[in-house]
Amino acid sequence: MDTIGICGAGTMGRGIAIACLQAGYRVVLYDIRPDALQNARATIAEQLRKAEAKGKLQKPSAELIAHLELVPTLADLLSCDIIIEAIVENRAAKQELFRALESLGISPQTIIASNTSSISIAALASVLHHPERCLGLHFFNPAHIMRLVEVVRSARTSPETLQRAVAFVERLGKTPVVVKDIPGFIVNRVARNYYNEALRLVTEGVATLEQIDRLMRSAGFPMGPFELMDLIGVDINLEVTRSIYEQHFHEPRFAPSLLQQQYVDAGLLGRKVGRGFYDYSAQ
Ligand code: NAD
Repeated sequence: MDTIGICGAGTMGRGIAIACLQAGYRVVLYDIRPDALQNARATIAEQLRKAEAKGKLQKPSAELIAHLELVPTLADLLSCDIIIEAIVENRAAKQELFRALESLGISPQTIIASNTSSISIAALASVLHHPERCLGLHFFNPAHIMRLVEVVRSARTSPETLQRAVAFVERLGKTPVVVKDIPGFIVNRVARNYYNEALRLVTEGVATLEQIDRLMRSAGFPMGPFELMDLIGVDINLEVTRSIYEQHFHEPRFAPSLLQQQYVDAGLLGRKVGRGFYDYSAQ
């Protein structure tokens, strides 16, 4: 059985783990925070049980969860065929993780993938002795449900790495779309305007955030921009905007919003903490 290593047991790491378990992979999940790992096991088990109840699993959830291993150190990922990082959206932190992985002596055949929303894959790969093994696998939230995965090929990604990564995404039952290594790739670059313009409208007092969400939903979008930021994590979403803005040499159309920064400063980070633009404490 192929083994997938996942670094970061937050929103995305958990979703990617569920998708891999459902597809019959063994999953080794690592996080620097032991409490995040323990919470992840409970969330993953619950989601698998829900999928089982809906008749969506090929095997019993108890059998799939038995293929999940929570590990306390990076060295426990050495035997993985593919390692996907889903840690904080911070270039230096991701580079540090990549350096550490290679210094532990993982095989040059192991693919190192980043779930980054916006950071240059070439920049992340530049710290590796084997940059040809690196690419972006950009899953969408919730990762076990959303079918699209942007497969980001940097100038240094080898054709073999790309081919193996596309086959992996297809085995997950998802739709791989190979994209170029530009800031925000395709979806997040286009989506910046969805969030930023909505934040500007609220800041200017043109409409309330509830009105904007309602209008966008009635225009056919499955979620309004504020509901979506709450789902993504207001902090994560702000980091992605900041990263795209900086990588575009501070082009004004990508400028982050002060209003969003204020929500982050206040700890109103969205669903994951029970409150963001909306209050979820009763749910
Ligand atoms: P999150 O804050 O929910 O989880 C991040 C996890 O990484 C935390 O549990 C944290 O303890 C852990 N972590 C931090 N530094 C670490 C390290 N050095 N080693 C191991 N673990 C570490 O974040 P998230 O929303 O899951 O986002 C993770 C990545 O996925 C980011 O790069 C983000 O841009 C990307 N992404 C997020 C979304 C989304 O909707 N949230 C969608 C697509 C991609």
